[in-house]
Amino acid sequence: PTNEAEVEVFSVPSYACQRRTTLENRNTVLTDALSLLAENAELSAEEGRGVAFRRAAAVLKVLPEPVTDMTQLRGLPCLGEHSLRVIKDILENGASSEVESTKQSERFKALKVLTGIFGVGAKTADRWIREGIHDLQQLKDSRPTLNRAQRAGLEHYDDINQPVSKAEADAIGQVVEEAVAAVLPGAQVTLIGGFRRGKLSGHDVDFLITHPEEGREVGLMPKIVSWLESQGFLLYQKTTRNSYLESEDGPARPCSNMDRFERCFSVFKLSEDEKRRAGQTQSRHASAEDGGRKLWRAVRVDLVVSPISQFAFALLGWTGSKLFERELRRWAGHEKTMSLSSHALYDGTQRTYLRATSEEEIFAHLGLDYIPPSERNA
Ligand code: ATP
Ligand code: MN
Ligand code: MN
Repeated sequence: PTNEAEVEVFSVPSYACQRRTTLENRNTVLTDALSLLAENAELSAEEGRGVAFRRAAAVLKVLPEPVTDMTQLRGLPCLGEHSLRVIKDILENGASSEVESTKQSERFKALKVLTGIFGVGAKTADRWIREGIHDLQQLKDSRPTLNRAQRAGLEHYDDINQPVSKAEADAIGQVVEEAVAAVLPGAQVTLIGGFRRGKLSGHDVDFLITHPEEGREVGLMPKIVSWLESQGFLLYQKTTRNSYLESEDGPARPCSNMDRFERCFSVFKLSEDEKRRAGQTQSRHASAEDGGRKLWRAVRVDLVVSPISQFAFALLGWTGSKLFERELRRWAGHEKTMSLSSHALYDGTQRTYLRATSEEEIFAHLGLDYIPPSERNA
Protein backbone atom coordinates (compact mmCIF):
# COMPACT_ATOMS: atom_id res chain seq x y z
CA PRO A 1 0.00 0.00 0.00
CA THR A 2 2.81 2.47 0.81
CA ASN A 3 4.31 1.65 -2.55
CA GLU A 4 1.05 2.24 -4.29
CA ALA A 5 0.44 5.52 -2.56
CA GLU A 6 3.71 6.78 -4.01
CA VAL A 7 2.68 6.00 -7.56
CA GLU A 8 0.90 8.95 -9.12
CA VAL A 9 -2.43 7.94 -10.66
CA PHE A 10 -3.68 10.11 -13.49
CA SER A 11 -7.20 11.09 -14.49
CA VAL A 12 -8.03 12.10 -18.06
CA PRO A 13 -11.35 12.84 -19.85
CA SER A 14 -12.07 10.45 -22.71
CA TYR A 15 -12.41 12.77 -25.72
CA ALA A 16 -9.27 14.56 -26.93
CA CYS A 17 -11.38 17.70 -27.50
CA GLN A 18 -12.03 17.84 -23.73
CA ARG A 19 -8.31 17.94 -23.00
CA ARG A 20 -5.54 20.53 -23.26
CA THR A 21 -2.75 18.94 -25.27
CA THR A 22 0.28 21.20 -25.58
CA LEU A 23 3.47 20.38 -27.47
CA GLU A 24 5.10 19.49 -24.18
CA ASN A 25 5.05 15.72 -24.00
CA ARG A 26 6.62 13.83 -21.09
CA ASN A 27 6.12 10.45 -22.72
CA THR A 28 7.65 10.75 -26.19
CA VAL A 29 9.18 7.26 -26.09
CA LEU A 30 5.74 5.73 -25.57
CA THR A 31 3.85 8.07 -27.90
CA ASP A 32 6.43 7.67 -30.70
CA ALA A 33 6.04 3.89 -30.44
CA LEU A 34 2.23 4.02 -30.54
CA SER A 35 2.31 6.60 -33.37
CA LEU A 36 4.50 4.32 -35.44
CA LEU A 37 2.01 1.46 -35.01
CA ALA A 38 -0.79 3.89 -35.91
CA GLU A 39 1.07 4.93 -39.04
CA ASN A 40 1.67 1.30 -40.01
CA ALA A 41 -2.02 0.50 -39.54
CA GLU A 42 -3.06 3.53 -41.62
CA LEU A 43 -0.66 2.57 -44.39
CA SER A 44 -2.13 -0.94 -44.32
CA ALA A 45 -5.75 0.20 -44.73
CA GLU A 46 -6.53 -0.66 -41.11
CA GLU A 47 -8.04 2.66 -40.20
CA GLY A 48 -9.79 1.43 -37.05
CA ARG A 49 -6.57 0.13 -35.54
CA GLY A 50 -4.82 3.33 -36.55
CA VAL A 51 -7.34 5.47 -34.70
CA ALA A 52 -7.11 3.24 -31.63
CA PHE A 53 -3.32 3.72 -31.45
CA ARG A 54 -3.67 7.48 -32.09
CA ARG A 55 -6.19 7.78 -29.26
CA ALA A 56 -3.95 5.84 -26.90
CA ALA A 57 -0.95 8.02 -27.79
CA ALA A 58 -3.03 11.16 -27.30
CA VAL A 59 -3.94 10.12 -23.74
CA LEU A 60 -0.26 9.67 -22.87
CA LYS A 61 0.53 13.11 -24.33
CA VAL A 62 -1.45 14.90 -21.62
CA LEU A 63 0.07 13.07 -18.63
CA PRO A 64 2.04 15.50 -16.42
CA GLU A 65 4.81 12.99 -15.69
CA PRO A 66 6.59 10.20 -17.51
CA VAL A 67 4.85 6.87 -16.98
CA THR A 68 7.08 4.54 -14.99
CA ASP A 69 4.65 1.93 -13.80
CA MET A 70 1.63 0.23 -15.38
CA THR A 71 -0.43 0.87 -12.24
CA GLN A 72 -0.39 4.60 -13.09
CA LEU A 73 -2.52 3.85 -16.14
CA ARG A 74 -5.43 2.36 -14.21
CA GLY A 75 -8.72 3.97 -15.17
CA LEU A 76 -7.31 5.91 -18.12
CA PRO A 77 -9.53 5.98 -21.23
CA CYS A 78 -8.62 4.75 -24.73
CA LEU A 79 -5.87 2.36 -23.63
CA GLY A 80 -6.82 -0.93 -25.23
CA GLU A 81 -5.26 -4.30 -24.62
CA HIS A 82 -2.91 -3.94 -27.56
CA SER A 83 -1.65 -0.47 -26.60
CA LEU A 84 -1.18 -1.55 -22.99
CA ARG A 85 0.91 -4.52 -24.16
CA VAL A 86 3.15 -2.17 -26.15
CA ILE A 87 3.54 0.22 -23.20
CA LYS A 88 4.31 -2.67 -20.81
CA ASP A 89 6.92 -4.03 -23.19
CA ILE A 90 8.67 -0.65 -23.31
CA LEU A 91 8.52 -0.06 -19.55
CA GLU A 92 9.88 -3.55 -18.82
CA ASN A 93 12.31 -4.11 -21.69
CA GLY A 94 13.18 -0.63 -22.91
CA ALA A 95 11.58 -1.30 -26.29
CA SER A 96 8.54 -2.91 -27.87
CA SER A 97 9.31 -5.97 -29.97
CA GLU A 98 6.33 -5.23 -32.21
CA VAL A 99 7.46 -1.67 -32.85
CA GLU A 100 11.03 -2.76 -33.54
CA SER A 101 10.00 -5.50 -35.96
CA THR A 102 7.58 -3.14 -37.73
CA LYS A 103 10.36 -0.56 -38.14
CA GLN A 104 12.65 -3.20 -39.65
CA SER A 105 10.05 -4.76 -41.92
CA GLU A 106 10.65 -4.39 -45.64
CA ARG A 107 6.97 -3.70 -46.21
CA PHE A 108 6.79 -0.81 -43.74
CA LYS A 109 10.03 0.70 -45.02
CA ALA A 110 8.77 0.48 -48.61
CA LEU A 111 5.37 1.96 -47.71
CA LYS A 112 7.11 4.90 -45.99
CA VAL A 113 9.46 5.61 -48.89
CA LEU A 114 6.77 5.31 -51.58
CA THR A 115 4.06 7.29 -49.77
CA GLY A 116 6.74 9.93 -49.17
CA ILE A 117 6.11 10.80 -52.81
CA PHE A 118 3.54 13.59 -52.90
CA GLY A 119 0.44 12.22 -54.66
CA VAL A 120 1.10 8.59 -53.71
CA GLY A 121 -1.26 7.07 -51.15
CA ALA A 122 -1.23 3.73 -49.38
CA LYS A 123 -3.20 2.03 -52.19
CA THR A 124 -0.76 2.95 -54.93
CA ALA A 125 2.23 2.13 -52.76
CA ASP A 126 0.73 -1.26 -51.94
CA ARG A 127 0.20 -2.03 -55.62
CA TRP A 128 3.79 -1.11 -56.44
CA ILE A 129 5.09 -3.25 -53.58
CA ARG A 130 3.13 -6.21 -54.93
CA GLU A 131 4.85 -5.56 -58.26
CA GLY A 132 8.19 -5.82 -56.48
CA ILE A 133 8.92 -2.08 -56.22
CA HIS A 134 10.38 -1.18 -52.82
CA ASP A 135 12.40 1.98 -53.34
CA LEU A 136 12.72 5.03 -55.54
CA GLN A 137 15.37 3.52 -57.79
CA GLN A 138 13.23 0.46 -58.51
CA LEU A 139 10.30 2.78 -59.14
CA LYS A 140 12.24 4.92 -61.61
CA ASP A 141 13.58 1.80 -63.36
CA SER A 142 10.11 0.35 -63.79
CA ARG A 143 8.92 3.52 -65.55
CA PRO A 144 5.39 3.47 -64.15
CA THR A 145 2.69 5.81 -65.40
CA LEU A 146 2.66 8.71 -62.97
CA ASN A 147 0.14 11.51 -62.73
CA ARG A 148 1.18 15.17 -62.60
CA ALA A 149 1.21 15.30 -58.78
CA GLN A 150 3.33 12.16 -58.53
CA ARG A 151 5.81 13.44 -61.12
CA ALA A 152 6.23 16.64 -59.10
CA GLY A 153 6.45 14.56 -55.93
CA LEU A 154 9.23 12.41 -57.33
CA GLU A 155 11.10 15.35 -58.80
CA HIS A 156 11.11 17.26 -55.47
CA TYR A 157 11.22 14.21 -53.21
CA ASP A 158 14.09 15.27 -50.94
CA ASP A 159 12.83 18.83 -50.46
CA ILE A 160 9.26 17.78 -49.76
CA ASN A 161 10.40 15.21 -47.20
CA GLN A 162 12.53 17.75 -45.39
CA PRO A 163 10.59 19.44 -42.55
CA VAL A 164 9.44 23.02 -43.13
CA SER A 165 10.61 25.50 -40.49
CA LYS A 166 8.45 28.24 -38.96
CA ALA A 167 10.74 30.80 -40.63
CA GLU A 168 10.06 29.20 -44.01
CA ALA A 169 6.33 29.10 -43.27
CA ASP A 170 6.41 32.84 -42.46
CA ALA A 171 8.35 33.64 -45.62
CA ILE A 172 5.75 31.79 -47.69
CA GLY A 173 3.03 33.56 -45.70
CA GLN A 174 4.41 36.92 -46.85
CA VAL A 175 4.28 35.82 -50.48
CA VAL A 176 0.70 34.54 -50.11
CA GLU A 177 -0.27 37.85 -48.44
CA GLU A 178 1.25 39.73 -51.36
CA ALA A 179 -0.61 37.57 -53.88
CA VAL A 180 -3.93 38.00 -52.08
CA ALA A 181 -3.48 41.76 -51.67
CA ALA A 182 -2.73 42.04 -55.40
CA VAL A 183 -5.81 40.16 -56.60
CA LEU A 184 -8.41 41.07 -53.94
CA PRO A 185 -7.58 43.95 -51.59
CA GLY A 186 -9.20 43.45 -48.20
CA ALA A 187 -9.05 39.65 -48.33
CA GLN A 188 -7.49 38.06 -45.26
CA VAL A 189 -4.90 35.31 -44.94
CA THR A 190 -4.67 33.12 -41.82
CA LEU A 191 -1.96 30.56 -41.09
CA ILE A 192 -3.69 27.30 -40.15
CA GLY A 193 -2.62 23.66 -39.62
CA GLY A 194 0.25 22.71 -37.35
CA PHE A 195 1.93 26.12 -37.40
CA ARG A 196 -1.20 27.74 -35.96
CA ARG A 197 -0.94 25.22 -33.12
CA GLY A 198 2.55 26.51 -32.38
CA LYS A 199 4.56 23.73 -34.00
CA LEU A 200 8.09 24.77 -34.93
CA SER A 201 8.17 22.59 -38.03
CA GLY A 202 5.70 20.85 -40.30
CA HIS A 203 5.32 18.70 -43.38
CA ASP A 204 3.61 21.55 -45.24
CA VAL A 205 2.20 25.06 -44.74
CA ASP A 206 -1.56 25.63 -44.65
CA PHE A 207 -3.43 28.91 -45.24
CA LEU A 208 -7.08 29.89 -45.02
CA ILE A 209 -8.24 32.86 -47.06
CA THR A 210 -11.49 34.79 -46.76
CA HIS A 211 -12.99 38.23 -47.37
CA PRO A 212 -15.08 40.12 -44.76
CA GLU A 213 -17.80 40.74 -47.35
CA GLU A 214 -19.71 37.53 -48.16
CA GLY A 215 -19.44 36.60 -51.83
CA ARG A 216 -16.31 38.61 -52.59
CA GLU A 217 -14.24 35.41 -52.21
CA VAL A 218 -15.98 33.75 -55.17
CA GLY A 219 -13.47 32.96 -57.91
CA LEU A 220 -10.59 34.07 -55.72
CA MET A 221 -8.48 30.90 -55.81
CA PRO A 222 -7.77 30.88 -59.56
CA LYS A 223 -6.71 34.52 -59.32
CA ILE A 224 -4.30 33.83 -56.46
CA VAL A 225 -2.91 30.83 -58.30
CA SER A 226 -2.43 32.83 -61.52
CA TRP A 227 -0.59 35.56 -59.64
CA LEU A 228 1.70 33.05 -57.91
CA GLU A 229 2.30 31.25 -61.20
CA SER A 230 3.11 34.46 -63.06
CA GLN A 231 5.74 35.25 -60.40
CA GLY A 232 7.27 31.78 -60.73
CA PHE A 233 6.32 30.60 -57.23
CA LEU A 234 4.52 27.40 -58.16
CA LEU A 235 6.26 24.16 -59.16
CA TYR A 236 2.91 22.33 -59.09
CA GLN A 237 -0.67 23.18 -58.25
CA LYS A 238 -4.05 21.53 -58.40
CA THR A 239 -7.13 23.54 -57.56
CA THR A 240 -10.29 21.66 -56.65
CA ARG A 241 -13.68 22.41 -55.35
CA ASN A 242 -13.75 21.02 -51.85
CA SER A 243 -14.63 17.34 -51.92
CA TYR A 244 -14.76 17.15 -48.13
CA LEU A 245 -18.55 17.24 -48.06
CA GLU A 246 -18.93 14.45 -50.53
CA SER A 247 -16.30 12.21 -48.97
CA GLU A 248 -16.66 12.71 -45.24
CA ASP A 249 -19.52 11.99 -42.91
CA GLY A 250 -20.49 15.62 -42.50
CA PRO A 251 -24.03 16.90 -43.01
CA ALA A 252 -25.44 16.56 -46.50
CA ARG A 253 -25.06 19.83 -48.41
CA PRO A 254 -26.80 22.23 -46.04
CA CYS A 255 -26.79 25.30 -48.25
CA SER A 256 -25.76 26.25 -51.74
CA ASN A 257 -22.82 28.48 -50.81
CA MET A 258 -20.96 25.29 -49.81
CA ASP A 259 -20.02 24.92 -53.43
CA ARG A 260 -17.72 27.91 -53.13
CA PHE A 261 -15.28 26.20 -50.84
CA GLU A 262 -12.09 25.85 -52.86
CA ARG A 263 -8.75 24.23 -52.19
CA CYS A 264 -5.36 24.29 -53.79
CA PHE A 265 -2.67 21.69 -53.18
CA SER A 266 0.64 23.04 -54.35
CA VAL A 267 4.37 22.68 -54.38
CA PHE A 268 5.87 26.07 -53.75
CA LYS A 269 9.28 27.29 -54.87
CA LEU A 270 10.82 29.10 -51.93
CA SER A 271 14.06 30.85 -52.76
CA GLU A 272 16.68 32.36 -50.48
CA ASP A 273 15.42 35.75 -51.70
CA GLU A 274 12.02 35.36 -50.04
CA LYS A 275 13.56 34.05 -46.85
CA ARG A 276 15.91 37.03 -46.81
CA ARG A 277 13.15 39.50 -47.56
CA ALA A 278 11.14 37.99 -44.72
CA GLY A 279 14.15 38.77 -42.54
CA GLN A 280 14.72 35.15 -41.71
CA THR A 281 18.21 34.53 -42.97
CA GLN A 282 21.23 36.75 -42.84
CA SER A 283 21.84 38.90 -45.84
CA ARG A 284 24.31 37.23 -48.12
CA HIS A 285 25.29 37.57 -51.72
CA ALA A 286 25.76 34.86 -54.27
CA SER A 287 29.34 33.68 -54.18
CA ALA A 288 31.57 31.14 -55.84
CA GLU A 289 30.51 28.68 -53.15
CA ASP A 290 27.03 28.79 -54.62
CA GLY A 291 28.27 27.22 -57.83
CA GLY A 292 25.97 24.26 -58.34
CA ARG A 293 24.22 24.81 -55.05
CA LYS A 294 20.48 25.15 -55.34
CA LEU A 295 19.29 28.50 -53.99
CA TRP A 296 15.70 27.44 -53.42
CA ARG A 297 13.68 24.59 -51.98
CA ALA A 298 10.32 23.01 -52.74
CA VAL A 299 7.65 23.24 -50.01
CA ARG A 300 4.18 21.70 -49.91
CA VAL A 301 1.59 24.45 -49.46
CA ASP A 302 -2.19 24.06 -49.00
CA LEU A 303 -4.53 26.99 -49.66
CA VAL A 304 -8.21 27.03 -48.71
CA VAL A 305 -10.74 29.76 -49.52
CA SER A 306 -13.87 30.04 -47.41
CA PRO A 307 -16.79 32.47 -47.40
CA ILE A 308 -16.83 34.59 -44.25
CA SER A 309 -20.07 32.92 -43.08
CA GLN A 310 -18.20 29.60 -42.77
CA PHE A 311 -14.86 31.03 -41.69
CA ALA A 312 -15.04 29.95 -38.03
CA PHE A 313 -15.89 26.37 -39.06
CA ALA A 314 -13.13 26.30 -41.66
CA LEU A 315 -10.64 27.74 -39.17
CA LEU A 316 -11.56 25.15 -36.55
CA GLY A 317 -11.59 22.34 -39.11
CA TRP A 318 -8.23 23.14 -40.65
CA THR A 319 -6.25 23.93 -37.51
CA GLY A 320 -6.10 20.29 -36.45
CA SER A 321 -4.63 18.16 -35.14
CA LYS A 322 -6.26 15.47 -37.22
CA LEU A 323 -7.11 13.48 -34.10
CA PHE A 324 -8.47 16.59 -32.36
CA GLU A 325 -10.77 17.18 -35.36
CA ARG A 326 -11.91 13.59 -35.40
CA GLU A 327 -12.67 13.71 -31.69
CA LEU A 328 -14.62 16.97 -32.06
CA ARG A 329 -16.84 15.32 -34.68
CA ARG A 330 -17.22 12.19 -32.55
CA TRP A 331 -18.14 14.32 -29.52
CA ALA A 332 -20.68 16.28 -31.59
CA GLY A 333 -22.31 13.13 -32.96
CA HIS A 334 -22.21 10.84 -29.95
CA GLU A 335 -22.65 13.25 -27.07
CA LYS A 336 -24.69 16.09 -28.60
CA THR A 337 -26.62 14.64 -31.58
CA MET A 338 -24.92 17.29 -33.69
CA SER A 339 -22.95 17.09 -36.88
CA LEU A 340 -19.79 19.18 -37.29
CA SER A 341 -17.84 19.82 -40.49
CA SER A 342 -15.43 22.48 -41.76
CA HIS A 343 -18.50 24.25 -43.13
CA ALA A 344 -21.21 24.10 -40.50
CA LEU A 345 -22.64 22.69 -37.29
CA TYR A 346 -26.03 20.97 -37.50
CA ASP A 347 -28.12 20.38 -34.39
CA GLY A 348 -30.09 17.19 -34.96
CA THR A 349 -32.37 17.82 -31.98
CA GLN A 350 -33.43 21.32 -33.01
CA ARG A 351 -33.10 20.38 -36.68
CA THR A 352 -31.26 23.56 -37.42
CA TYR A 353 -27.83 24.89 -38.34
CA LEU A 354 -26.07 26.74 -35.55
CA ARG A 355 -24.31 29.92 -36.59
CA ALA A 356 -20.91 30.93 -35.31
CA THR A 357 -18.49 33.73 -36.08
CA SER A 358 -15.68 32.47 -33.85
CA GLU A 359 -14.18 29.18 -32.71
CA GLU A 360 -15.21 30.08 -29.15
CA GLU A 361 -18.87 30.07 -30.21
CA ILE A 362 -18.52 26.64 -31.81
CA PHE A 363 -17.03 25.14 -28.64
CA ALA A 364 -19.86 26.76 -26.67
CA HIS A 365 -22.49 25.27 -29.01
CA LEU A 366 -20.85 21.89 -28.47
CA GLY A 367 -20.90 22.29 -24.68
CA LEU A 368 -17.11 22.15 -24.50
CA ASP A 369 -14.63 24.40 -22.72
CA TYR A 370 -12.74 26.50 -25.26
CA ILE A 371 -9.41 24.92 -26.20
CA PRO A 372 -6.98 27.34 -27.90
CA PRO A 373 -4.98 26.16 -30.95
CA SER A 374 -1.78 25.64 -28.93
CA GLU A 375 -3.64 23.09 -26.81
CA ARG A 376 -5.10 21.10 -29.71
CA ASN A 377 -1.93 19.08 -30.30
CA ALA A 378 -3.58 15.73 -29.62
P1 ATP B 1 1.84 19.02 -40.44
O1 ATP B 1 2.73 19.86 -39.64
O2 ATP B 1 2.35 17.62 -40.60
O3 ATP B 1 1.46 19.62 -41.74
P2 ATP B 1 -0.90 19.49 -39.81
O4 ATP B 1 -1.68 19.34 -38.57
O5 ATP B 1 -0.78 20.87 -40.37
O6 ATP B 1 0.51 18.86 -39.56
P3 ATP B 1 -2.14 18.74 -42.32
O7 ATP B 1 -2.15 17.41 -42.99
O8 ATP B 1 -1.48 19.84 -43.05
O9 ATP B 1 -1.53 18.50 -40.87
O10 ATP B 1 -3.65 19.10 -42.04
C1 ATP B 1 -4.03 20.34 -41.47
C2 ATP B 1 -5.48 20.32 -41.13
O11 ATP B 1 -6.25 20.24 -42.31
C3 ATP B 1 -5.89 19.14 -40.27
O12 ATP B 1 -6.66 19.62 -39.22
C4 ATP B 1 -6.74 18.28 -41.15
O13 ATP B 1 -7.80 17.72 -40.42
C5 ATP B 1 -7.26 19.27 -42.16
N1 ATP B 1 -7.45 18.59 -43.44
C6 ATP B 1 -6.52 17.96 -44.16
N2 ATP B 1 -7.05 17.42 -45.27
C7 ATP B 1 -8.36 17.75 -45.24
C8 ATP B 1 -9.47 17.51 -46.10
N3 ATP B 1 -9.33 16.80 -47.21
N4 ATP B 1 -10.66 18.01 -45.76
C9 ATP B 1 -10.80 18.72 -44.64
N5 ATP B 1 -9.82 18.99 -43.79
C10 ATP B 1 -8.62 18.51 -44.08
MN1 MN C 1 0.05 21.17 -42.28
MN1 MN D 1 -1.93 20.41 -45.21
